[in-house]
Amino acid sequence: MFELPKLPYQNDALEPHISKKTLEFHHGKHHAAYVKNLNALIVNTQFEKMNLEGIVRNSDGAVFNNAAQVWNHTFYWNCLTPASKSKTKPSGKLMKAIERDFGGFDDFKESFTKQSVSLFGSGWTWLVSDDKGSLSIMRTENAKNPLVFEHVCPLLCCDVWEHAYYLDYQNVRADYLKEFWHIVNWSFAEKNYSSCQE
Ligand code: MN
Repeated sequence: MFELPKLPYQNDALEPHISKKTLEFHHGKHHAAYVKNLNALIVNTQFEKMNLEGIVRNSDGAVFNNAAQVWNHTFYWNCLTPASKSKTKPSGKLMKAIERDFGGFDDFKESFTKQSVSLFGSGWTWLVSDDKGSLSIMRTENAKNPLVFEHVCPLLCCDVWEHAYYLDYQNVRADYLKEFWHIVNWSFAEKNYSSCQE
Protein backbone atom coordinates (compact mmCIF):
# COMPACT_ATOMS: atom_id res chain seq x y z
CA MET A 1 0.00 0.00 0.00
CA PHE A 2 1.31 3.42 -0.96
CA GLU A 3 0.94 6.31 1.45
CA LEU A 4 0.54 10.01 0.83
CA PRO A 5 3.95 11.47 1.68
CA LYS A 6 3.93 14.42 4.07
CA LEU A 7 4.74 17.81 2.54
CA PRO A 8 8.35 18.82 3.23
CA TYR A 9 6.98 22.09 4.75
CA GLN A 10 3.79 23.43 6.36
CA ASN A 11 0.69 24.10 4.23
CA ASP A 12 1.17 27.87 4.58
CA ALA A 13 4.95 27.88 4.05
CA LEU A 14 4.85 28.85 0.38
CA GLU A 15 2.65 31.91 0.89
CA PRO A 16 2.16 34.39 -0.66
CA HIS A 17 3.32 32.60 -3.83
CA ILE A 18 1.16 29.50 -3.35
CA SER A 19 -1.60 29.74 -0.76
CA LYS A 20 -2.35 27.45 2.15
CA LYS A 21 -5.70 26.73 0.54
CA THR A 22 -4.07 25.58 -2.70
CA LEU A 23 -1.74 23.23 -0.82
CA GLU A 24 -4.62 21.88 1.26
CA PHE A 25 -6.47 20.92 -1.90
CA HIS A 26 -3.52 20.06 -4.13
CA HIS A 27 -1.76 17.85 -1.60
CA GLY A 28 -4.63 16.90 0.70
CA LYS A 29 -7.22 16.18 -2.02
CA HIS A 30 -5.61 15.74 -5.46
CA HIS A 31 -2.37 13.99 -4.51
CA ALA A 32 -4.23 11.98 -1.87
CA ALA A 33 -6.79 10.83 -4.45
CA TYR A 34 -4.07 9.55 -6.80
CA VAL A 35 -2.61 7.50 -3.93
CA LYS A 36 -6.02 6.12 -3.00
CA ASN A 37 -6.90 5.28 -6.61
CA LEU A 38 -3.55 3.59 -7.20
CA ASN A 39 -3.91 1.41 -4.11
CA ALA A 40 -7.36 0.31 -5.24
CA LEU A 41 -6.26 -0.37 -8.83
CA ILE A 42 -3.27 -2.60 -8.05
CA VAL A 43 -5.02 -5.07 -5.74
CA ASN A 44 -4.43 -8.60 -7.07
CA THR A 45 -2.36 -7.41 -10.04
CA GLN A 46 1.28 -7.79 -11.07
CA PHE A 47 1.84 -4.25 -9.75
CA GLU A 48 1.03 -5.09 -6.13
CA LYS A 49 4.63 -5.99 -5.30
CA MET A 50 6.38 -3.33 -7.42
CA ASN A 51 7.81 -0.08 -6.19
CA LEU A 52 6.33 3.15 -7.54
CA GLU A 53 8.98 3.72 -10.22
CA GLY A 54 8.56 0.15 -11.42
CA ILE A 55 4.81 0.67 -11.81
CA VAL A 56 5.33 3.96 -13.69
CA ARG A 57 7.78 2.28 -16.08
CA ASN A 58 5.68 -0.84 -16.70
CA SER A 59 2.03 0.20 -16.71
CA ASP A 60 -0.43 2.05 -18.88
CA GLY A 61 -4.00 3.30 -18.63
CA ALA A 62 -5.46 4.14 -15.23
CA VAL A 63 -2.67 2.42 -13.28
CA PHE A 64 -0.06 4.49 -15.11
CA ASN A 65 -2.01 7.73 -14.74
CA ASN A 66 -2.40 7.38 -11.00
CA ALA A 67 1.09 5.97 -10.31
CA ALA A 68 2.77 8.67 -12.39
CA GLN A 69 0.72 11.40 -10.72
CA VAL A 70 1.71 10.07 -7.29
CA TRP A 71 5.38 10.18 -8.34
CA ASN A 72 5.09 13.56 -10.09
CA HIS A 73 3.50 15.29 -7.10
CA THR A 74 6.02 13.94 -4.61
CA PHE A 75 8.78 15.21 -6.91
CA TYR A 76 7.03 18.57 -7.35
CA TRP A 77 6.69 19.19 -3.59
CA ASN A 78 10.42 18.66 -3.29
CA CYS A 79 11.07 21.13 -6.12
CA LEU A 80 9.51 23.86 -3.96
CA THR A 81 10.67 25.48 -0.75
CA PRO A 82 9.66 28.54 1.27
CA ALA A 83 10.90 31.74 -0.41
CA SER A 84 13.05 32.55 2.64
CA LYS A 85 14.98 29.32 2.04
CA SER A 86 15.15 29.44 -1.77
CA LYS A 87 18.51 30.53 -3.10
CA THR A 88 16.69 31.86 -6.23
CA LYS A 89 19.31 30.44 -8.60
CA PRO A 90 21.43 27.32 -8.78
CA SER A 91 25.17 27.29 -8.27
CA GLY A 92 28.13 25.09 -9.13
CA LYS A 93 27.89 22.42 -11.81
CA LEU A 94 24.18 22.92 -12.48
CA MET A 95 24.52 26.68 -12.99
CA LYS A 96 27.45 26.12 -15.37
CA ALA A 97 25.42 23.60 -17.37
CA ILE A 98 22.40 25.95 -17.55
CA GLU A 99 24.64 28.75 -18.85
CA ARG A 100 26.22 26.38 -21.37
CA ASP A 101 22.97 24.82 -22.65
CA PHE A 102 20.54 27.77 -22.47
CA GLY A 103 22.86 30.74 -22.95
CA GLY A 104 22.27 32.04 -19.40
CA PHE A 105 20.06 31.60 -16.35
CA ASP A 106 17.58 34.27 -17.44
CA ASP A 107 17.29 32.67 -20.88
CA PHE A 108 16.58 29.33 -19.22
CA LYS A 109 13.89 30.86 -17.01
CA GLU A 110 12.29 32.60 -19.96
CA SER A 111 12.22 29.45 -22.04
CA PHE A 112 10.90 27.25 -19.18
CA THR A 113 8.22 29.86 -18.44
CA LYS A 114 7.16 30.12 -22.09
CA GLN A 115 6.93 26.37 -22.49
CA SER A 116 4.93 26.08 -19.25
CA VAL A 117 2.49 28.85 -20.11
CA SER A 118 1.89 27.56 -23.64
CA LEU A 119 1.40 23.87 -22.81
CA PHE A 120 -2.12 23.11 -24.03
CA GLY A 121 -4.33 21.41 -21.48
CA SER A 122 -2.87 19.65 -18.44
CA GLY A 123 0.70 18.57 -17.95
CA TRP A 124 4.14 19.19 -16.58
CA THR A 125 7.27 21.08 -17.52
CA TRP A 126 10.64 19.55 -16.62
CA LEU A 127 14.27 20.50 -16.57
CA VAL A 128 15.98 17.25 -17.49
CA SER A 129 19.50 15.95 -18.04
CA ASP A 130 20.70 13.20 -20.34
CA ASP A 131 23.32 10.80 -19.03
CA LYS A 132 26.13 12.99 -20.34
CA GLY A 133 24.86 15.97 -18.34
CA SER A 134 23.31 17.91 -21.22
CA LEU A 135 20.23 19.83 -20.13
CA SER A 136 16.94 20.41 -21.88
CA ILE A 137 13.36 21.41 -21.15
CA MET A 138 10.75 18.72 -21.63
CA ARG A 139 6.98 19.00 -21.56
CA THR A 140 4.72 16.05 -20.81
CA GLU A 141 0.96 15.81 -21.14
CA ASN A 142 -1.39 14.77 -18.35
CA ALA A 143 0.38 12.28 -16.05
CA LYS A 144 3.31 11.43 -18.30
CA ASN A 145 6.80 12.01 -16.91
CA PRO A 146 10.47 11.64 -17.90
CA LEU A 147 10.80 8.20 -16.25
CA VAL A 148 9.15 6.64 -19.30
CA PHE A 149 12.07 7.70 -21.51
CA GLU A 150 15.51 6.10 -21.51
CA HIS A 151 18.48 8.27 -20.51
CA VAL A 152 16.34 11.16 -19.30
CA CYS A 153 16.77 12.27 -15.72
CA PRO A 154 14.40 14.83 -14.15
CA LEU A 155 15.99 17.67 -12.16
CA LEU A 156 13.08 20.07 -11.61
CA CYS A 157 9.41 20.26 -12.56
CA CYS A 158 6.45 22.57 -12.57
CA ASP A 159 2.89 21.28 -12.35
CA VAL A 160 0.83 23.22 -14.87
CA TRP A 161 -2.47 21.42 -14.29
CA GLU A 162 -5.09 24.05 -13.54
CA HIS A 163 -5.59 22.63 -10.03
CA ALA A 164 -2.03 23.78 -9.19
CA TYR A 165 -2.90 27.47 -9.50
CA TYR A 166 -6.61 28.08 -10.07
CA LEU A 167 -7.50 28.99 -6.46
CA ASP A 168 -4.71 31.60 -6.39
CA TYR A 169 -4.50 32.87 -9.97
CA GLN A 170 -7.68 31.54 -11.63
CA ASN A 171 -6.96 31.04 -15.33
CA VAL A 172 -3.76 33.11 -15.42
CA ARG A 173 -1.05 30.46 -15.57
CA ALA A 174 1.58 33.11 -16.36
CA ASP A 175 1.08 34.66 -12.91
CA TYR A 176 1.63 31.29 -11.24
CA LEU A 177 4.86 30.83 -13.21
CA LYS A 178 6.07 34.27 -12.16
CA GLU A 179 5.58 33.26 -8.50
CA PHE A 180 7.03 29.77 -9.03
CA TRP A 181 10.56 31.17 -9.47
CA HIS A 182 10.51 32.63 -5.93
CA ILE A 183 10.07 29.22 -4.34
CA VAL A 184 12.23 26.85 -6.38
CA ASN A 185 14.33 24.46 -4.33
CA TRP A 186 17.55 24.69 -6.33
CA SER A 187 19.39 22.51 -3.83
CA PHE A 188 17.05 19.64 -4.76
CA ALA A 189 17.71 20.19 -8.50
CA GLU A 190 21.48 20.29 -7.87
CA LYS A 191 21.31 17.07 -5.89
CA ASN A 192 19.34 15.42 -8.71
CA TYR A 193 21.88 16.63 -11.27
CA SER A 194 24.73 15.04 -9.32
CA SER A 195 22.95 11.73 -8.88
CA CYS A 196 21.90 11.63 -12.56
CA GLN A 197 25.49 11.34 -13.62
CA GLU A 198 26.59 8.68 -11.13
MN1 MN B 1 -1.13 18.59 -9.50
